[in-house]
Amino acid sequence: MTTGNSNLPLVWDFIDRKKEVFTELADRVWETPETCYMETLSAAAHREMLEAQGFRITENVAGIPTALIGEAGEGGPVIAFLGEYDALAGLSQKAGVTQHDPMTPGANGHGCGHNLLGSASLLAATALKDWLEKTGTPGRVRYYGCPAEEGGAAKAFMVRAGAFEDVDIAISWHPSNFAGVQRETSLANCRIDFTFTGRAAHASAVPELGRSALDAVELMSVGVNYMREHMPSESRIHYAVLDTGGISPNVVQAHAKVRYVVRSADLPGLFALIERVKKVAEGAALMTETKVESTILAGVSNLVVNTPLMDAMQDVWDSMGPPPFDAADIAFAEKIRATLTPEDIAASWNQERLEQRDVPLADFILPPHTENRQMGGSTDVGDVSWVVPTVQAYGATLAVGTQLHTWQVVAQGKSPLAHKGMVSAAKAMAATGLAAMTSDQLREAAWADLKKRRRGQDYKSPIPDGAEPPVAAMTLK
Ligand SMILES: [Zn+2]
Repeated sequence: MTTGNSNLPLVWDFIDRKKEVFTELADRVWETPETCYMETLSAAAHREMLEAQGFRITENVAGIPTALIGEAGEGGPVIAFLGEYDALAGLSQKAGVTQHDPMTPGANGHGCGHNLLGSASLLAATALKDWLEKTGTPGRVRYYGCPAEEGGAAKAFMVRAGAFEDVDIAISWHPSNFAGVQRETSLANCRIDFTFTGRAAHASAVPELGRSALDAVELMSVGVNYMREHMPSESRIHYAVLDTGGISPNVVQAHAKVRYVVRSADLPGLFALIERVKKVAEGAALMTETKVESTILAGVSNLVVNTPLMDAMQDVWDSMGPPPFDAADIAFAEKIRATLTPEDIAASWNQERLEQRDVPLADFILPPHTENRQMGGSTDVGDVSWVVPTVQAYGATLAVGTQLHTWQVVAQGKSPLAHKGMVSAAKAMAATGLAAMTSDQLREAAWADLKKRRRGQDYKSPIPDGAEPPVAAMTLK
């Protein structure tokens, strides 16, 4: 042990004792892939496990039916483990099969590995709870069952509802190619629906009487696409047309709706860019003599990393090493790699600025770095990280080169290699949680770092006052 914390083997021992039932939990969630706010069976499976492990349970957190909290222990610091269990649409795939072969074509699949994510976080929380009980140490451990990470921003609504107000430290992880500490920041984002209303008319007999909402959607896209040249380079804008106004070309479309995702490096940049997109929408409405209404559905903040916590977690990983993969895991990973392009594989190494090596599974721990790196995407962990010092691990649960949101992730999601990566991530989180629970100095340093990184800015939720979690809106196909 290089960490010098004599309590670590005991907390890992608690994980080893319970890893089988948590592997079953991950598999069970894999088998019922449910998307954004619809995670009824997956949340119920996590609730059952919390109950079986003796946690006190709070349901319907922030008014979200699939959000829940389990708490154990008394007094002391509050250490939170964040879990997720939502799946993705259209990624159905048979487990263990190394070619694209959906179980049900078009159905959901766990293409981001969140079946493992929730289970490992709950396993880490359980091990720390067992350690508190065994040692009679004051302290509280919480598991946050967070739905709708993929586009629903549930954690941002949970933060707004005050669910993290008394938390000292938050810990999470994400399935990945490699094991180590997640050190990248992420983009703030916002989902906005623009609804245009025009006037229907016979498109040939009296076209002059019609005002086309579909024209407005198209012109808005043109305007936004011209604006791209003049945005900060790390900003992103995407859109999906939800309503084209009907199927009849000979009727001027009186209604149309387009959903935008706007992303920026930070919240002030996001709010400024949203105002510009709104101006483009108003311009499109002006040109077409239609009306436009915009509704913000959900938003997330950029991720604030935390140096003292990243250093503490790095120590843990360095003392653990990579997951104990065996020859069968390597053989399976080789077959998955045969389905990837050379560009896929190179991208995984490039993302970590590492020199590419010919290994099918991670055989090392990601080295620390101090550069300010940004991942391309966004996460609602960002909102938690603004109000509580937060650290996240990467767990090696995928053949090197596997990209998230692909059938290959689903194919590996119930495999022994994924289970090993998940258990090792749980150990990294539990040991980091234990360090935070038992060291006032670490918690104080983590809070000082968060205050420094916020540079005097208060957390301002990207979700407008009064907006409800978009439980129904997210089911729109
Ligand atoms: Zn994910």
